Amino acid sequence: MVEIDVRGLSAKRIYEGELAFDYEPESGLLDIPFTEFASPVHAELRYKIAEDQTVEVTGMISFTLKGACSRCLEPAERRITGEVNGIFETPEGDGETYGYRNVVKLDELLRDSLLFALPSRLLCDACIDIPED
Ligand SMILES: [Zn+2]
Repeated sequence: MVEIDVRGLSAKRIYEGELAFDYEPESGLLDIPFTEFASPVHAELRYKIAEDQTVEVTGMISFTLKGACSRCLEPAERRITGEVNGIFETPEGDGETYGYRNVVKLDELLRDSLLFALPSRLLCDACIDIPED
């Protein structure tokens, strides 16, 4: 998984940057019946390292879900995007933030962002326009 080497970057006086990468999501995160990830998750992130070594990571993730429509069971495929927004503090987070030592590991933030972005069901193009009953 992708990491931000805060100590190494700080030594080089680099305090912000961008990261773009793809990764395979944990299939266990998805609990919509008959649905799977049809693509790796694409992440586009920015990071900023503050003077006190607090690291802010923001950006977007996107991925495709594929399976049976939760309403009519016809094949459905949908591109989902979600926001990424996390603060990393050293050595420990306070519950609202994540902790790190020297290197920010993005696993937990990406997992949380993915869980937040996941819809509760997958709808096909015909069903997505039907109002909720
Ligand atoms: Zn449908």
